[in-house]
Amino acid sequence: MSKGFLLVVSGPSGCGKGTICKELLRRNKDLIFSVSATTRKPRIGEVDGKNYFFIDKEKFDSMVARGEFLEYANVHNNSYGTPKKFVIDNIGKGEIVLLEIDVQGALQIKSVYPEAVFIFILPPSMEELKNRIIKRGTETKKDIDIRLKNALKELKFVDEYDYFVINDKVSDAVENIEAIITAERLKVKRHKNLLKKINIQEG
Ligand code: 5GP
Repeated sequence: MSKGFLLVVSGPSGCGKGTICKELLRRNKDLIFSVSATTRKPRIGEVDGKNYFFIDKEKFDSMVARGEFLEYANVHNNSYGTPKKFVIDNIGKGEIVLLEIDVQGALQIKSVYPEAVFIFILPPSMEELKNRIIKRGTETKKDIDIRLKNALKELKFVDEYDYFVINDKVSDAVENIEAIITAERLKVKRHKNLLKKINIQEG
């Protein structure tokens, strides 16, 4: 059996990582999305248990206290965390688990799970990033300012990642991530008893 691994996708607000991940999951049924918990209020159309587990701060803090998160962070004044058990169980089954999380979370994952694959989504330009955040229109003026400020901070962390993908056109970005997944799947270290598996006898 090939070993499962974590695919961590980050990028500043407005870079389009949500759209990219959605399309990636639509095209690759064998990828599993890790649904995060958050204290943020749901946006219109978001579904509890699908987009996020929407929980209150008290529940979030009790999950932190019980060690139920693989990583967690405060992002744009809300708490977000990756439920540990779901990820560990699926990696154990040999699955590829997709995490769409911020840079603070990615760095935590890197320290406990360095064999994860880290991809950073970049906007085509800073101008375009601003337009996208404003155009989305789901945030208040104050939230937009916070997200823009955080975007500038987040971009500086690109050096911590294994790969970058520029989101000029969603389908191109998705294809690039698929190429990364294919290459990672073919890494010898991700396979136990490789020769036996492909039916080649040693000696
Ligand atoms: P949004 O509120 O726009 O859905 O997400 C805001 C930010 O939180 C995004 O950068 C997203 O990647 C990040 N995020 C979502 N889930 C998690 C999580 O479980 N952990 C961390 N650290 N960040 C998360």
